[in-house]
Amino acid sequence: MEGLKHGIQDARKKYTLLTTFDVRNAFNTASWGLILRRLREKDISTYLTNLIASYLSERKVGMARLNRELTAGFPQESVLGPTLWNVLYDNVFELEFPAGVQICGYADDLAIIANADRKEEVELNANEAMSMISVRMMENGLKLAPEKTEALMANIRISWNLRLEGTQIAVKRKLKTVSIAATQVISGTPPIDLLAEKRKLMFQKRSGYENSGKARKRTIQKWQEEWDSHVDTAQWTKRLIPNISQWITCKFRNTNYFFMQALTGHESFTAYTHQISKTVNDRCRYCGDTDTLEHTLFSCIRCEVRRGAAKVYLGKDTDTHV
Ligand SMILES: [Zn+2]
Repeated sequence: MEGLKHGIQDARKKYTLLTTFDVRNAFNTASWGLILRRLREKDISTYLTNLIASYLSERKVGMARLNRELTAGFPQESVLGPTLWNVLYDNVFELEFPAGVQICGYADDLAIIANADRKEEVELNANEAMSMISVRMMENGLKLAPEKTEALMANIRISWNLRLEGTQIAVKRKLKTVSIAATQVISGTPPIDLLAEKRKLMFQKRSGYENSGKARKRTIQKWQEEWDSHVDTAQWTKRLIPNISQWITCKFRNTNYFFMQALTGHESFTAYTHQISKTVNDRCRYCGDTDTLEHTLFSCIRCEVRRGAAKVYLGKDTDTHV
């Protein structure tokens, strides 16, 4: 994100276009054969390359009577996975893009920023960079998903002609992001500084927190204090989840696509889709009121019965939070 911010801020040109790419099924399709080839190309010692070759060999996946040999992919959260992914992916960042195009990446997420004083130049450079990335991806045994690739115009509203592998790329006017504090609470992951502090206290003799249960309680208490004092962003999430401890121990805490929309406020309700010119009006199709997330959760007649059931189940009102 910092790289992207700098790329956009540094742009002293009239037009700036940010394009984000999606790699199809990225981590599952990373070819082990290609990774080993890249390690050899990078002159990594034979000893280490052989060690990794051994680690990746004779791996099988079985189900019922089916038994297949694995040749690609990494389990997410594996220790070696991100490093081997970087080995495979690194050459994308070595591409020599047209002037004014910068690349930025994290794990399988990839973005380019194209800057120029003329619209045609931005369009031409962005299209060329996309085509270069597409070819390099294929060389890496990976495929881009053009339908999930999006562009964002940073400073001016005009129409663009961007194509990736023949598919027209959608250009948006707004990029919605979720605050870090909100994602941490939703996922139940305490901020890293609090986790580090917890480990430190547990490690220090006579801190009084050698017991992990006690240390955890302290971490959650501190986290709650931070959450309570958070005033800039994440107010919607905070309204729905005022109490972290209750939330992280809640048995209904499964986060699917729609639930995430509700918790983050990243709604696709018509009040928003109308604002970005995707729908003709901002009305709720069930009752005719302005269709927002707040409307759907707390007042639309469509969810009246469910709200009633939740109230009975919880033994309290659900007008303000979940
Ligand atoms: Zn409604």
